[in-house]
Amino acid sequence: MKVLKFGGSSLKDGASMTSVGEIIASDSEEKVIVVSAIHGITDSLLDFMSKVRREEEVQQFIRTLRDRHLRLLTEVAGSMDVKQTAVSQLSAQLVRLERILYGIIYLEELTPRTRDLVQSFGERMSVIVMSAMLQEMGVNAVPVEADELGIITDGTFGSATVDMENTRSNIAPKIYEMFKRQETPVVTGFFGKTTEGYITLLGRNGTDYSASVIANAIDADSLEIWKDVDGFMSADPKVVREAVPIGQLSYEEAAELSYFGAKVLHPRTVEPARAKGITIRVKNVFKPNYEGTAINPKGVEGNRTIKSISSMPNMAMIKVYGAGLGSKSGVMSEMSTMLSDAGIVVYSAATSQTCVSMLIEERDLKRAEKVMGEAKKGVVDRVESVRDVALLCLVGEGLGQKEGIAGKVFSIVASNGVNVSLISAGASTVALTFTVKRKDLEKTTKTIHQEFFGG
Ligand code: ASP
Ligand code: MG
Repeated sequence: MKVLKFGGSSLKDGASMTSVGEIIASDSEEKVIVVSAIHGITDSLLDFMSKVRREEEVQQFIRTLRDRHLRLLTEVAGSMDVKQTAVSQLSAQLVRLERILYGIIYLEELTPRTRDLVQSFGERMSVIVMSAMLQEMGVNAVPVEADELGIITDGTFGSATVDMENTRSNIAPKIYEMFKRQETPVVTGFFGKTTEGYITLLGRNGTDYSASVIANAIDADSLEIWKDVDGFMSADPKVVREAVPIGQLSYEEAAELSYFGAKVLHPRTVEPARAKGITIRVKNVFKPNYEGTAINPKGVEGNRTIKSISSMPNMAMIKVYGAGLGSKSGVMSEMSTMLSDAGIVVYSAATSQTCVSMLIEERDLKRAEKVMGEAKKGVVDRVESVRDVALLCLVGEGLGQKEGIAGKVFSIVASNGVNVSLISAGASTVALTFTVKRKDLEKTTKTIHQEFFGG
């Protein structure tokens, strides 16, 4: 029993969808398929919502969506009855979406709740096309919507966390029932619902996370995340031409890399699989025989201290000054709570007696300045920001224990004339993170890669 996830980049056109279909059809094991929206659809839903004003625009937009899905459907499903069922299922979704979009116009209001609901339609449509293709290939595929199935979330619109207990008791029996009927569920990724029934997204690229949640819930033997890349690499191949693929990672290494900028997996994907000891395999749709990256408890590969370098280029530092700030108990946690309440993630932090520095994404800087400005109340004297910061993250199991690694890294970096600041080595035993000026990111990544991987 396994779970297979396919992302939008593999659901682009008839040819890529057929590659996906062949992977699924060639494997007779019981499985759940989890899919993202067709390539580009989530973005177009987002974009359209933010600027729609007139009813005619809605009609035009719905027509575009219909055409795109019907064209794909025609490419992958030839037989009349399969196609007809899919067309009427698609129409039902489009009617619902159209009404919601009119609602936005009439109310002149776009709430986080509506924003999440609208975006869920990308996946609601893709599972229909996908199932039709699989039926055509002889797989007894059935489209399933995550809210119907019962993926329950905590209600944070835009980036919700799944309530695993509730979700498991909802979905496991339904999926086992489907297996008994020899059906292959094709489930929408990306969203769940609150206990009240409101649709909540799991964050951009959240389908990886959905798939891991389902794998956990049904006690799958493995989880396969199919992408259009070879898996995790030793560095971003766009920056370091010599980057090599990584065959094995531990859960912790994969989680750190994903959190700190490697775009391979949604950052939350590891957790549900790890809780059940399920191996995650990241594989390439266009090279199905290539082994990709396996993520499991062992994750050992060779004796490299550093396995991979990831980075986040668009960071900023917010520095909060106040006399005796560092020794006032609770100040630090109060500040990070205020920021997280505003939806701002603090990636790293450092304190001194008079200053707390926090690393955030640059796009959050304006809001962070505002929030910290409000925190003044006698504790904070002034707030300063540093833009154009980049974060580097070096990952390797045992990196935390090996003496002198941090020293070695920083001396290499320094010998290139690059200044390092905000270092965090203790937070995880498998990751070493530090920041440099954005303009130095590429050079630093290349130098470190050269030193530890050669080539
Ligand atoms: N379709 C959603 C997105 O584009 C979710 C996903 O791709 O996993 O973010
Ligand atoms: Mg996507």
